[in-house]
Amino acid sequence: CGIVGYIGNKDSKDILLKGLEKLEYRGYDSAGIAVKNESGIHVFKEKGRIADLRSIVDEDVLAHIGIGHTRWATHGVPSKGNSHPHQSASGRFTLVHNGVIENYDLLKQEYLSDVTFESETDTEVIVQMIELFVNEGLNVLEAFRKTLTLLHGSYALALLDAQDNETIYVAKNKSPLLVGLGKGFNVVASDAMAMLQVTDQYVELMDKEIVIVTKDQVTIQDLNGEVISRAPYKAELDA
Ligand code: GLU
Repeated sequence: CGIVGYIGNKDSKDILLKGLEKLEYRGYDSAGIAVKNESGIHVFKEKGRIADLRSIVDEDVLAHIGIGHTRWATHGVPSKGNSHPHQSASGRFTLVHNGVIENYDLLKQEYLSDVTFESETDTEVIVQMIELFVNEGLNVLEAFRKTLTLLHGSYALALLDAQDNETIYVAKNKSPLLVGLGKGFNVVASDAMAMLQVTDQYVELMDKEIVIVTKDQVTIQDLNGEVISRAPYKAELDA
């Protein structure tokens, strides 16, 4: 299973799909991408192979921001409906997740009893909580942060906001996730190999850090909002 993300000047679809293909060897049962442009967020997902996903992606949708996912089902059967990305009730937020949220059922009961769920996944709880907290008045970063403090388990996350053309929000805990740096673009990947096609410069992330990724900037914060600086390293393809 894996995660990729791209924000920059090029069309993101093929970069994301190529990235997911590089992660295929890890095993997965379904895959999906979400790309964002002026007309909104476009989600394509499918049970089965990346080739199947490729065949349903609309070539005419051009988008400079996107996230992608290969799923290894832990909660909910492998199906199109359970495959990622998942969206919040209003469609404003779109999320991919690797890992397991151990307390998802409790969170659902405590915070989300009014929400109609579209999937059987633990993941959907995360994206619904972010929207709930935004509806309650927090900004997106605050809502993301609050949600993370309530999650128990493992996660690598990439989040899109339909009202924001410039940002991918990222976080991790006990699941791998990296940010890759480019000139005029930045990427996200669960494994550098996925994005070596576009850059070999990567920043390692620590558990419970939040990263705000734009095409020109990568800002790492801890859960208190303190900014953290960390130098990139050069990733090399294992021979
Ligand atoms: N727990 C999530 C699910 O079952 C994510 C699984 C994964 O890491 O791919 O959908």
